[in-house]
Amino acid sequence: MTATTTNPTFACQCYGPGLAPEGRRTTAEAQIEQLVLTIDGRLIRLPWKSCSITGGGFDHQQLQLSWKGDGGNWTIVPSDAKAFTSLVENAPAALKNQLDRWQQGVKRVNRGFRLGALALGFIVALPFLLLALFLARSDAIAQWITDQIPLEMEQKFGDIAFKQTTQQMALLNAPDVQRVIEEIGAKLTAGSAYTYHWFVADDPTVNAFAVPGGYVVVNSGLIESAESAEELAGVLAHEVQHVEQRHSLKQLVKQAGLALTIKLALGDWGESVLAELSRNLASLSFSRDHETKADAKAVDALREAGIDPSGLLRFFENLAQGNGESIALLSTHPAPMDRMEALRAATESATGDYQALDYDWQAIKAEVKN
Ligand SMILES: [Zn+2]
Repeated sequence: MTATTTNPTFACQCYGPGLAPEGRRTTAEAQIEQLVLTIDGRLIRLPWKSCSITGGGFDHQQLQLSWKGDGGNWTIVPSDAKAFTSLVENAPAALKNQLDRWQQGVKRVNRGFRLGALALGFIVALPFLLLALFLARSDAIAQWITDQIPLEMEQKFGDIAFKQTTQQMALLNAPDVQRVIEEIGAKLTAGSAYTYHWFVADDPTVNAFAVPGGYVVVNSGLIESAESAEELAGVLAHEVQHVEQRHSLKQLVKQAGLALTIKLALGDWGESVLAELSRNLASLSFSRDHETKADAKAVDALREAGIDPSGLLRFFENLAQGNGESIALLSTHPAPMDRMEALRAATESATGDYQALDYDWQAIKAEVKN
């Protein structure tokens, strides 16, 4: 009985003793019990058990069938993909186990190679990924970093930032103004986790700013332009909310360069890092979102303190209708139409029977007049 027609035959290249280095092309037949091929007119019948599969690498076509024969080692290699497929798909049972083992080995090598390439690619691409992430998601990154900072660290940062920012500033010794600010401030920050420090700067520009950790600086120019203690209270309440909501801290982190951001993300809060972070504090400008949130929370805080919240609205409305001079407070706390509308709505919903703050405002203002 012959089964020749059902046995797979495949073209192959044969290498062995006495053959040219480039091998000899022939056709082999994978019979059930044996491999049969003819070389130089010589018929070779090779039982599968004396034949081993070697080779491998990343290319399946490197499969080799080897055996020890006349004069040394003999090898055949399927000559192309078609020959390879023919051998693998129709392999007799005797060869199948060996073939399976070999294929699993090849897969393992390939998988290892792919993982290695992936890891290498990741390492090479990491700085670019970080940069892309930094550019695309700086807001989320700033928020994440800000959320990691404990209160004590924020206060330490505030101390450094306040010293650095006020180095070039003349702070004003105006006891009456100071007392009014501290009294109003105490009402607005009752129950806060921060300890607040209040300062008046001798500066005619209309401005106020908050330093993370609880420092609030009000320019003499702002006090002069406020028409009532309630207006001042409104600005203080707004600045306090930038501290309470950590807006200043987040903005500073957001504006930090990539190198500084990486240090912060890694938890490096050394003094030099903090000093570098605080550099933009005086010119820090807030997002619309921060402004709107600070307004809303300020209105709540004013209402809870029993102070008429409409002072905040009036102060910003007056500034917006001002005589066109550039107003520092408006450049750092932008007041576009939608912010003013939201503030108006919040103020209206907080109307009530408020007692006027009991200060002789004109007399207080006189103290800061040059
Ligand atoms: Zn603001």
